[in-house]
Amino acid sequence: MTAQADYSALVQRGLSLDLTRGKPSPRQLDLSNDLLKLPASYRAADGTDGRNYGNLQGLAELRELFAPLVQVPAERLVVGGNSSLALMHDTIVHALLTPVPGATRRWVEEPEITFLCPVPGYDRHFTITERFGIKMVPVPMNADGPDMDVVERLVAADASVKGIWCVPKYSNPSGVTYSDETVRRLAAMPTAAPDFRIFWDNAYAVHHLTDTPDELADLPALAAEHGNADRVFVYASTSKVTLAGSGVSFFGSSPANVEWFLHNTSKQSIGPDKINQLRHIEFLRDPAGVAAHMKRHAELIGPKFELVDKVLTERLGDLGTWTSPKGGYFISLEVPHAAEVVAKAKAAGIALTPAGATHPYGKDPDNRTIRLAPTFPELDELEQAIEGLAVCVRLVAEEGLISGRCP
Ligand code: PMP
Repeated sequence: MTAQADYSALVQRGLSLDLTRGKPSPRQLDLSNDLLKLPASYRAADGTDGRNYGNLQGLAELRELFAPLVQVPAERLVVGGNSSLALMHDTIVHALLTPVPGATRRWVEEPEITFLCPVPGYDRHFTITERFGIKMVPVPMNADGPDMDVVERLVAADASVKGIWCVPKYSNPSGVTYSDETVRRLAAMPTAAPDFRIFWDNAYAVHHLTDTPDELADLPALAAEHGNADRVFVYASTSKVTLAGSGVSFFGSSPANVEWFLHNTSKQSIGPDKINQLRHIEFLRDPAGVAAHMKRHAELIGPKFELVDKVLTERLGDLGTWTSPKGGYFISLEVPHAAEVVAKAKAAGIALTPAGATHPYGKDPDNRTIRLAPTFPELDELEQAIEGLAVCVRLVAEEGLISGRCP
């Protein structure tokens, strides 16, 4: 059967499937239902009343629990609300309005600000920098992280380069974990801007899919060793550990940066939701508790990643390449004419993240990358979606052959 005939049959089925966003499935959320009955006590370890205002930095016992997982000592961690993305957004606002340690002026006074954006990358990072008129320069991602020759050259040559977005472990969307050498070079590289910052979004620090997890070198420690302690802003959250809409988030950095951050957030809030913090401490207990909980997630989503890999292998052959990540939430599929494939899938009732979303300004110059988010649908729906996607890839390839269009 031709791809055209398969596609007509696909459209006939009137599917309504969604692979757009990396959301946990209801069964994953069920793993954390006990949170809804907690906390048993509203008293923090130091005896304070969690129901009241105060403790801007967050409960020490929660910071201690997460310190080893995010590679920042507890005294230099801050607990935020349910969204680490909000912390990233607000950090940039703070830097625009209040000089970061080491800066000669506020970022809003700079004639131009540039951020390096490893691609493919996370669209919501790019949305934040775009919102503030920050120029985004793509940097290619390799199998061991961003191309460090390019990064080192750009940060050394141009003082307008103030930041780089990094998802260093099981990256969104490529699944790549930065190598020790990449992390060391990020820690050590000379930068033209004295106030250059690495936005180290360790969103998938504990989100392993195998029993042989990737190890990530300790950027905050390495940066401090190289005299660049203030260079690193670390972010993480429990959005994909407990409840995506009701977790806790973390900001971690050097003493000077934490002081700067708390100085700014003290103007924003009288204190965070400590009842939710207590709930998370009682539920997760310690790093071993987090690891055991994440294993249950892996049991639910591991088969989904395997299914995508199997269907793509059977149906696509050499029409595309894709990643087989050892953790995280995404698979990155590379095919010719990605935007056309996404449009065909949409017309057949299969919603995919727009092609180009993985690049700054939504523009993938090669029109190749499609981010697949397999966690939310159950296996039968996921199989239908990937089978349908494969039909669309074959159809676009077939139409390209007929029209003589280059891949
Ligand atoms: N960072 C990355 C790399 C992500 O993939 C996501 C979720 N898709 C987030 C941050 C969002 O985190 P939060 O829910 O803590 O805002």
